[in-house]
Amino acid sequence: MPARPRSLQREWSRAFTLVLVALVAGAAVTLVGVRVVTDHMQHAAAQHRDESEAVAELRAGLDAHEQAGLQLLSAGAVDPSAFLQQQKDVSAQFDAAAGILPVAYGMRDAVREARTAWQEGLSAHGLWGSQVASLHGNRVAEAPAFAASGARARALLANVRRASLDALDDGVAHGAELQRMVSTGRIALFALAVGGVFLFRRRMTRYLMRPVEGLYRGVVKLQSGDYSHRISVVRDDELGQLAEAFNSMAATVHDSHLELTFRATHDPLTGLANRAVLAERLAAVFGPGAPHPEGKEGFGAGRSDHREGLLIIDVDDFKDVNDSLGHEGGDALLIQLAQRLRGCVRAHDLVARLGGDEFAIVVMDDCGTATDDVAGRIQDALRDTFSIDEVRLKVSVSMGAAQRGAGTADPAELMRQADFAMYMAKHGGKGRYQLFDARGYDEMTFRAALRADLATAVQAGQLRLDYQPVVNLGTGEIAGVEALVRWEHPTLGRLGPADFIPLAEETGEIGSIGCWVLDTASRHVAGWRRSPGTAGDLWVSVNLSTLQLSSDRNLAALERILAHPASQADKVILEVTESALATSADGGVAALNRLKSFGVRIAIDDFGTGFSSLSTLAVLPADILKIDRAFLSGLPGDAPATAMLEGILEVARKLDLAVIAEGIEDSGQLDLLRSLGCDMGQGFLLASPSPSPVLEALLASGALLQPPAGLDAPANGV
Ligand code: C2E
Ligand code: CA
Ligand code: CA
Repeated sequence: MPARPRSLQREWSRAFTLVLVALVAGAAVTLVGVRVVTDHMQHAAAQHRDESEAVAELRAGLDAHEQAGLQLLSAGAVDPSAFLQQQKDVSAQFDAAAGILPVAYGMRDAVREARTAWQEGLSAHGLWGSQVASLHGNRVAEAPAFAASGARARALLANVRRASLDALDDGVAHGAELQRMVSTGRIALFALAVGGVFLFRRRMTRYLMRPVEGLYRGVVKLQSGDYSHRISVVRDDELGQLAEAFNSMAATVHDSHLELTFRATHDPLTGLANRAVLAERLAAVFGPGAPHPEGKEGFGAGRSDHREGLLIIDVDDFKDVNDSLGHEGGDALLIQLAQRLRGCVRAHDLVARLGGDEFAIVVMDDCGTATDDVAGRIQDALRDTFSIDEVRLKVSVSMGAAQRGAGTADPAELMRQADFAMYMAKHGGKGRYQLFDARGYDEMTFRAALRADLATAVQAGQLRLDYQPVVNLGTGEIAGVEALVRWEHPTLGRLGPADFIPLAEETGEIGSIGCWVLDTASRHVAGWRRSPGTAGDLWVSVNLSTLQLSSDRNLAALERILAHPASQADKVILEVTESALATSADGGVAALNRLKSFGVRIAIDDFGTGFSSLSTLAVLPADILKIDRAFLSGLPGDAPATAMLEGILEVARKLDLAVIAEGIEDSGQLDLLRSLGCDMGQGFLLASPSPSPVLEALLASGALLQPPAGLDAPANGV
């Protein structure tokens, strides 16, 4: 770790050392001070005691010696040598006292003076030293003077005692002074410690607590996702370094967060927004309280003046670009295209790449033609060729658009609509722009739902057959019946073949439906044949889809039914349209020949509408021609139609084919057909398609279907 100009560790160890020193110093001052004061007092007291003792001893010595002196003066019985010894002792006591007593306060001088006075008093009365030997007689008269000289010495000693007391007083006073000094020192040190504590407390708050709080706040903010928060660096110490480290970590986290967010929301190839952002924008657009781009509030799905548009853009033949220029070339094209798309929108629109070669644009605030304008600008922008690896390329896109309306439920619906429009544009040819068409969409979704239901229709027993009699126009007898399929849809009700047969052909369901029809119709009619009153040779005609002929599987299924004796194949007619046969080339003819081997007859349905040539007709394994009702619609006043009808009848006669005229609706048509010698016919005038019980009853009644001239077909029904 690099050296720091400031260090919390240094600072705090210094602080603790200082406080410790103050405490130790305080304790030392206390201990030493108390000791000094005590010693001083003890010393003063001892000194005084010694002085007092010395003075007291001296006084006692003096008193005793004075008594002895007085006795000597009064010629008492005193041993002079003992007196002298006593005198020496007193002198020694004076010397000792002079040694004990200090010079201060004049004590030593006073003792010396007392000694001098004592000595002079003794000398004056012949009692000093060798004078004693020559002393004789009664000198009691000198006793008062001698006592007075002793009094002077005692007075001087009393001075010494007073001086000693003064010294004691001063010593005590000095002790008190010392004690004050010790207290002052201790208070000073205590104050220093208190000051230090306050100072360090303040510094701790400033340099320790606040930075730590700041760090904590920073961590909490980072946790809550605020990556831009930074901690202020108070000082360049350990915490300062920690704060700096935190800030650089937060900056790194911020950067990687931005990068991750960008990656999560953008397409890495083109830099455009991705699908997630598009979904988010659409969700915001549909949100109830979504903020308006111009700051207005509450623009929900109900607002009609601000309707957002969604454009879906798909590159035409992008696969070819990838195939010819490689994936790098394809990527380069997508990048350039993304740039051009960006240039076609306004600032608040959103361009996104949905994946592959598919892009989407949310056109905000489209109060009129904004979406169309963007589409127009895109088409303009694509007029210039793209240049990839020096290859110049002309690129077109298919665009579909949908606008959010009051009825658009959610983003997914808008997306579906725009997708559908794009799909329509694509199918209408390349480089097209298509606005969403609600009717086409409804039709498509309806068909999609129907397609799903159709898969289970046969198994669920939802199919029914109606039968329409085909009548011998000459006699009015019912020669046969045409089976016509219906679907009893559980929710949509009865659906006619036009609603579901083309779908069944698309999904392949026609195979099972066709088999069901053939099987059901042939068995039904076989049953009727057995009932009394019904012709034993009543035939049933069943419509076949060309897809039933082109697939081997379907053909085999038909063969299995026809092979079953219950179907009575020789009384079955299979109807195929002329146009269907024309598109299935030879396959259809071969298949029909295979079926014919079971004894069935073949009818060419809707004859005359398929533009097949007469030569084709000659090779078809047909037995019957069913003339399309279009030839009857203008009759009987329509001369050219009549001529056509005559021609067809003539051809049929020549080719030895039976003829059934379809769609006879009025008696004029019937009369004309009869006059032209047409064998058979069917139509609402004779009988409408009806459910099997109705047909069964009609057949059982043996009624002839020969309406009198002038009676036209009812609008509906038999
Ligand atoms: P199609 O084979 O030409 O059948 C005759 C159609 O004409 C029937 O319509 C019938 O109701 C109608 N029709 C009968 N008489 C008259 C009339 O006087 N005037 C008018 N305007 N129409 C008349 P439908 O039942 O709706 O059948 C329509 C078509 O559906 C049939 O035309 C046939 O091509 C097809 N279809 C019916 N059932 C099946 C089937 O089981 N399989 C296959 N593949 N197609 C079927
Ligand atoms: Ca038919
Ligand atoms: Ca027909």
